[in-house]
Amino acid sequence: MEFQTFNFHPQIAAGIKALGYHIPTPIQRQAIPPVLQGQDVMGLAQTGTGKTAAFVLPILERLMTGPRGRVRALVIAPTRELADQINAAIADLGRQTRLRSITIYGGVNMNPQIQKLRIGVEIVVACPGRLLDHVAQGTIGLSNLEVLVLDEADRMFDMGFLPDIRRIIKHVPPKRQTLLFSATMPDDIRRLAHEILRAPVTVQVGHTAPADTVSHALYPVDQHLKTALLLELLRHTDTESVLIFTRTKHRAKRVGQQLERAGYRAASLQGNLSQNRRQEALDGFRNGSYQILVATDIAARGIDVSSISHVINYDMPDTADAYTHRIGRTGRAAKTGDAFTFSTREDEETIRSIERVLGEKIERRTLYGFDYKKPAPSRDTEFARLPREPQRRRQQNPTTWKGARAQPNSPEGRARRRQEDRKTGSAGAQRQFPRRAARRGSPGSLRPRG
Ligand code: AMP
Repeated sequence: MEFQTFNFHPQIAAGIKALGYHIPTPIQRQAIPPVLQGQDVMGLAQTGTGKTAAFVLPILERLMTGPRGRVRALVIAPTRELADQINAAIADLGRQTRLRSITIYGGVNMNPQIQKLRIGVEIVVACPGRLLDHVAQGTIGLSNLEVLVLDEADRMFDMGFLPDIRRIIKHVPPKRQTLLFSATMPDDIRRLAHEILRAPVTVQVGHTAPADTVSHALYPVDQHLKTALLLELLRHTDTESVLIFTRTKHRAKRVGQQLERAGYRAASLQGNLSQNRRQEALDGFRNGSYQILVATDIAARGIDVSSISHVINYDMPDTADAYTHRIGRTGRAAKTGDAFTFSTREDEETIRSIERVLGEKIERRTLYGFDYKKPAPSRDTEFARLPREPQRRRQQNPTTWKGARAQPNSPEGRARRRQEDRKTGSAGAQRQFPRRAARRGSPGSLRPRG
């Protein structure tokens, strides 16, 4: 099946062609026809499956007819990065359509957003908090809205955005098309879907398991040997771009520094740095000047680098869902990727739940020649200990993991969410390596600088 089958407007077809898409991905094959027909859709698809184009293309098609200069489609996303990515997909796919799309999120000046809204746009891609600010100030009109998309609904729920979503829905016309995409379907999302979707068509790819273009391996290792194993593994593996996940911001920073010291072109995405520096790290990772990015789950949300060949879980994710999200960064759109996970004795339970989701046992690997017996340093270094609980969890209800929803309407809940929103947008980069250093490594290899 080719894209021509959908009979998109020639200006949209031109955008598809320009991006080099030939064959629709499974989620596109399933979702595009009902969305084109105006039906509500619940899409169970993780990032990397082509889900963005699955809703963007039919929305562009709908907007080709009808009035311009009014907000007719609204996409809500959990993070600025994802909002930027969706907006970029709209700009690319709709480059010949003259349809206008903007992003609306916090952490940046509101005035340019207000100006663009005044001039007139047809599509808005927004994060919930800032969108509600615009609604409250009357700087955005949603009365002409025809299509509402909630992307990565499970992440929005994890981040405590569900009450905001419900508030936003009160401001959009009840007669609309609603599309909800989520990698997983926790009960609260199912309930929300039931409330806001009308007779939805459910489309699903690969259940909630990671894309099957990814191969998985576990590397059992003691806590204090993780960095040594990481360095050894990188030396022995042919990699393109590597995304490494740690459990805390601090560990992301430290591992990034250790990789730099070992001669790799590495950056870390961590909190407390400006949006500019964060963007610099992301751009550097995208354009290949950084080959390794070390990040926490929150900081890495929405990263889409098509050449990520390896995801390495330096620390085990908290849940099988988090594993799915992390792994969704590699093996994107029919490319293959490897997912390596370092596991310690404490991780057994999480491994079992990941294996249940994958429907198979993950291969346990031992790196030949690596000294697994090396004792922990006598000084109790932080890397010899279990990682601290990530800050996100400590701020939430201690009795529930998905505690982000514990007190969603409380002032503390809102304050925390805002703080988190700021945090997700404020991670930053290590210093940029000189170009000379970037050229020294052979392309496609991750050998350290000489
Ligand atoms: P997404 O799941 O929407 O984040 O998309 C993952 C990646 O797949 C993005 O880099 C898209 O540009 C790419 N992609 C989406 N649809 C297709 C397609 N039909 N053919 C090739 N690449 C695609």
